[in-house]
Amino acid sequence: MKFSYKETTKTFEEFNQDINSLSVAELKKKYLSKKGNLKDLLKKIGKQKNEEKAQFGKEVNILKNFIQEKINILNSGLNTKFSTNQIDVTAPFEKNTPEDDKPRLLNNLGSTHPLTQELENILKIFQKMGFEIEESRQIDDDYNMFQSLNFPIGHPARDNWDTFWTKEKFVLPAHTSTMQNRILKKYEIPIRVVIPGRCFRNEATDASHEHTFYQIEGVYVDKDISMSHMFATIKAYLEAFFETKLDIKIQPSYFPFTEPDAEFVISCPFCEKKGCSICKYTGWIEIMGCGMIHPHVLKEGGIDPKKYSGFAWGFGLDRLVMIKNGIDDIRKLHSGELEFLDQF
Ligand SMILES: [Zn+2]
Repeated sequence: MKFSYKETTKTFEEFNQDINSLSVAELKKKYLSKKGNLKDLLKKIGKQKNEEKAQFGKEVNILKNFIQEKINILNSGLNTKFSTNQIDVTAPFEKNTPEDDKPRLLNNLGSTHPLTQELENILKIFQKMGFEIEESRQIDDDYNMFQSLNFPIGHPARDNWDTFWTKEKFVLPAHTSTMQNRILKKYEIPIRVVIPGRCFRNEATDASHEHTFYQIEGVYVDKDISMSHMFATIKAYLEAFFETKLDIKIQPSYFPFTEPDAEFVISCPFCEKKGCSICKYTGWIEIMGCGMIHPHVLKEGGIDPKKYSGFAWGFGLDRLVMIKNGIDDIRKLHSGELEFLDQF
């Protein structure tokens, strides 16, 4: 690049020297700011003799574009000559991004999903009660989902679970009991474990049914465990969850993996049994299935049912969160609707 005027030549040469010694900010100040060298040159165009104005103006513009472009390149980090920061390729992306290039969040930083909030809360309650936590799995086999739970192949109750199967005959767990056999084999007695997990059911969705939802399973095994231990444990947990005293009722139910089986029913925590929309004006809410672990299930887990007994339960996290927060449609929980989520 060559310039024919003294002023443009001088600025061009000076810039080529400065580029090796000044920082980007200093270059910007010296050449591009209101009081910068280029502004001086632009002002001088008008002071040239008429026949020189066009040529001088052209040179100043070429020089200005050249300097502007060089500084832009330096600024974008393409030229690493001035960069003393080493790039850590294993770091999260924002660690290597210059501060003024980072994506900016608006005022709303987001929040924890209501299911996550309550899951954390529930697990804390069980931890205080002495339970360990094991996570369930999102794909399993027939043995864990059915056979080990006293559903032999061909058992009619298998149909109640509306299960998704893969081509290879793996199963998407329809309940967190899919973990029971593993828990019985893994832990020493006394066993006290809660198992949160995602469950899947192959069924049509409506305000109270979803194909994907969360359950929390509980397993308790020790010597001389009876149904009264089960009622007291579940009641103590639910009173901590709803932060109020509750009355309980037990209704008969049926699960192949428990004997006897029960539906656990609590007095409505919102109306003191007077009746409200949450309890559908009955004063009571069916909250979860539970029962004494079937001797076949204990035996399959390597535990002698003559020496030990235990209980298990499984409840839907989504349903419990809906009851606690007065949510009328389960599908909202997985909708991602901000208007809904903003309330939590
Ligand atoms: Zn009520």
